[in-house]
Amino acid sequence: ATPTNSINSNSSVSRKRLVKSPTPPPVAPTEPAPKEPEVSPDDEKALKEALEDEIIDQMRGIDRTAAKQIFSEIVVHGDEVHWDDIAGLESAKSSLKEAVVYPFLRPDLFRGLREPVRGMLLFGPPGTGKTMLARAVATESNSTFFSISASSLTSKYLGESEKLVRALFAIAKKLSPSIVFVDEIDSIMGSRNNDGENESSRRIKNEFLIQWSSLSNAAAGNKEGSEDEEDERVLVLAATNLPWSIDEAARRRFVRRQYIPLPEPETRKKQLNKLLAHQTHTLTEDDFEELLALTDGYSGSDITSLAKDAAMGPLRELGDKLLFTPRDQIRPIKLQDVKNSLEYIKPSVSKEGLTEYEDWAKKFGSSG
Ligand code: ADP
Repeated sequence: ATPTNSINSNSSVSRKRLVKSPTPPPVAPTEPAPKEPEVSPDDEKALKEALEDEIIDQMRGIDRTAAKQIFSEIVVHGDEVHWDDIAGLESAKSSLKEAVVYPFLRPDLFRGLREPVRGMLLFGPPGTGKTMLARAVATESNSTFFSISASSLTSKYLGESEKLVRALFAIAKKLSPSIVFVDEIDSIMGSRNNDGENESSRRIKNEFLIQWSSLSNAAAGNKEGSEDEEDERVLVLAATNLPWSIDEAARRRFVRRQYIPLPEPETRKKQLNKLLAHQTHTLTEDDFEELLALTDGYSGSDITSLAKDAAMGPLRELGDKLLFTPRDQIRPIKLQDVKNSLEYIKPSVSKEGLTEYEDWAKKFGSSG
């Protein structure tokens, strides 16, 4: 994922929160909520801390510091992404709706044989919308959404990472229904054969797998339709650009493995159109058609970069005069601007790179 655009960006801590749930988990928003002006941000913070402490007190055997860190990774008031914001990827969207969103919205229908999956992996080249899809899931499903970047789980202190993983699953269970989204999952689920694998990454991976298995076992032990089953609804959603480096045991636990490919020509056109829609431009239908051939191999984020760069065209041309030119005298963006930008903005995935993804998808991907 592009760090600036991913939920986690560079920080290990995501401070946004999803508040779609009709019964929101007992965690107050980290950002001041405008609804209740009589509650000062300080009061709110204290309230939030008190609620968190209460929850931690109710759970035995979890590390308080680790739990606090996990609480701060719950997505609060995210810059919401909706399905329509994501160009194309129709089969990925329906797959996510069926496997994740509907079961969370209608748990009564998804029982027994229709028991929802506990793990779903989104894999494909970088910049194709995996993080956006996860954010849309956060917006659309009534769940507590934990957004964890794998690097935030790896601590340099021995044993700390395992505590974080235990706290993560314990809190996810407590605040269920929950979705645990792990970006760059390959970095904690690397294959055992990797030379680089050291003792500490092996321990994180094992702890993660143990905690994850204990969830499914607990659910399997419950009778169909029992309340506990509903209480324990926790799904691990993960994204990776390096699916082949995931350990086999971990791979098997991701029952659904959804390929997120490069955008189809029609999708690129839709995305470009949408990006330019808010700017004045002179591009015609024919111009867009011409650009389709020129953007073959471009990912969603390449297209975004291309449009951003092209939008600078009219300003670049002005040089210093830009400072004195009234807004309505800036010329519209034209086809040549996009063509100029094509010189600099090249596809970030090579043809050979793409073949690797396609091969892996054929071997291990879920259909669709
Ligand atoms: P990934 O997680 O697959 O690496 P992201 O979801 O972080 O990719 O996408 C990076 C950026 O690229 C997004 O913020 C968005 O601007 C753009 N982008 C990628 N795919 C799409 C898409 N299908 N529709 C719209 N924008 C997209």
